[in-house]
Amino acid sequence: MGTRILTNKQIAAKAQAIIDRDDKDIQLHFAGYVEPGHTNPKRGIIATGNWHDYREAGKAFEAMGIELEWNDEWTECSECNGLVRIKPGSFDWIPAFTDNADGDGIACHAVWIAAVFVVIVTAQC
Ligand SMILES: [Zn+2]
Repeated sequence: MGTRILTNKQIAAKAQAIIDRDDKDIQLHFAGYVEPGHTNPKRGIIATGNWHDYREAGKAFEAMGIELEWNDEWTECSECNGLVRIKPGSFDWIPAFTDNADGDGIACHAVWIAAVFVVIVTAQC
């Protein structure tokens, strides 16, 4: 048997199957990070969960090239689905998101800056 190289899509399906096995509270994210200082994983997949509860799944995911993050520290931007940190990672951490005024989750600054830019450009036309 030769080495089978899985595509990112196949890896995502494999990971989802692991999650579905006992309906684990793990989420897969495909839009990468929008947190400054974070480069996106090669496989393009980040999983969030409580890895104390899901050690085995975490190990399997890491072996598959999936990046692990804690689900109480990271959340998806409601606009672009990118992952943003919601808990300080260091003493000089600055949040890279804004709470949506309508209480509907958070929006990362990339979206926020783009929105301001559109307003400025539109105002100048
Ligand atoms: Zn965003």
